[in-house]
Amino acid sequence: MAEATQFPYGDTSSVKPFWAKPELLAKLKDKVPAPRSTGNLPCDVLAGIRVEAALNRNVKLTLDACVRCGACLNACPTYLTTGDIHNSPVGRADLVRRALRADSFWGRLFRTRNGVQAQDEATVQRLSTYYYQCLECRRCGEICPFGLDQADVTRSVRSVLMDCGIASRYVATVIETSERTGNNLGLPPPAIKNTIEFCRDEIREEKGVDVRVKVDEPAYAMLVPPSADFFLNLETLKGYMLFFHEAGIDYTFTTEHAELGNFGLFVGEKHMAAVGDHIVQVAKKLGVELVIAGECGHGWRAFKQYVVPRLRAEGIEGVHVFHAVIDAIRRRTVRLDPAQNGDARYVYQDPCNYARAGDLVDEPRFILERVVRDHRESPHSREATWCCGGGGGLLTDELMPLRLAYAQLWFDDARSVGGEQVVRPCAICKAQLNATLPKLNKVGKTQLRYSGLMDLVYKALVPSSAPPAKA
Ligand code: SF4
Ligand code: SF4
Repeated sequence: MAEATQFPYGDTSSVKPFWAKPELLAKLKDKVPAPRSTGNLPCDVLAGIRVEAALNRNVKLTLDACVRCGACLNACPTYLTTGDIHNSPVGRADLVRRALRADSFWGRLFRTRNGVQAQDEATVQRLSTYYYQCLECRRCGEICPFGLDQADVTRSVRSVLMDCGIASRYVATVIETSERTGNNLGLPPPAIKNTIEFCRDEIREEKGVDVRVKVDEPAYAMLVPPSADFFLNLETLKGYMLFFHEAGIDYTFTTEHAELGNFGLFVGEKHMAAVGDHIVQVAKKLGVELVIAGECGHGWRAFKQYVVPRLRAEGIEGVHVFHAVIDAIRRRTVRLDPAQNGDARYVYQDPCNYARAGDLVDEPRFILERVVRDHRESPHSREATWCCGGGGGLLTDELMPLRLAYAQLWFDDARSVGGEQVVRPCAICKAQLNATLPKLNKVGKTQLRYSGLMDLVYKALVPSSAPPAKA
């Protein structure tokens, strides 16, 4: 591992997110009431954890069934890169057990006699620090002999903390912005439309095609990309636009819900549901028959598991853009030329939520092998993939020391197979790679690049208006 990203003392207790101000959390509670803080009593984190452990079957099972075998330690990227036992699946679960003991009958008696405030403060501090260092990547659940999912415990603990007034400022801001504006970045409709027009001009210039685009209009399908595609990932956006044009799919963008990402997944189901339900409302309003998700790992997971069943109840189908691309390739309605992406060595790295929660493993590979000439697997791929290091709501500057340490795992993987360009079709991965690659490249003396997958589809697409290829 590169020197700049090591934690030599195995102590990450000083790395924590900036905490959200009460006013921000109050706004969130106005939208989605927090059951634990209603009534006259102030919310008690330890009591909240006890209620969660009693009522949430996953949390109860995980705490009860874990035998502390330690198998998950060697799978957890946060422990492997920092060496801090608290920053591990077992260490985090032990913090919850400690909180439960502190709120047991004897624990409460002790707290009452020895000063409630002092003991609560230390336990709550450790819980909030280390549960906001977890990437919610579910790698521990993949290796655990009992299939225990510590990421689920992370979400539950964060949910209790948030109801009691403790949440990452970044995560809370994104959720509040998304619930208020329909996208995580707060992009106003004119800005979204301008970006779409800009990309249309670029496609005309680069590919000689005047693509059809609808925005907020009735159509057969509604495309929901992550908002980062209207801001940072314009090559991905151009990929959607040219692909749908060439495949002849009647679709519309929506400025009302221009966001596949769903940060509610990181802190609790109430907010995930609020954001997910909005997609269903907008789809019904536009009268579409199909909703197509763009490139985003956690967004796809929330979409597939929460939104799609609710869309189906309304007679609307939901798929990923990769499903549409594969369908078009099989029907031969699009032409692809992998030579357009040059001779670089592309390394596919699965976003966690595609591989360990979203059943999207073979699909991206099917597309990749048709849009580039040289594609390689990472040593840790498919269900064993490493998180980009920015998942779970950690994509914020104050956590950069951790993000760099976590990123070292996939960076070393890509280098070990001679990769020149990492392909990670996820908005969080792209933002994390955009922020960390310059430093990792500098320290590692490399020039590794990154992209999404629709970016490569864009380059490989041969417009139907182009002359047929020579035999
Ligand atoms: S692998 Fe499973 S049983 Fe073993 S310590 Fe981790 S969570 Fe507990
Ligand atoms: S979800 Fe990922 S980061 Fe969190 S404890 Fe499990 S393996 Fe570690």
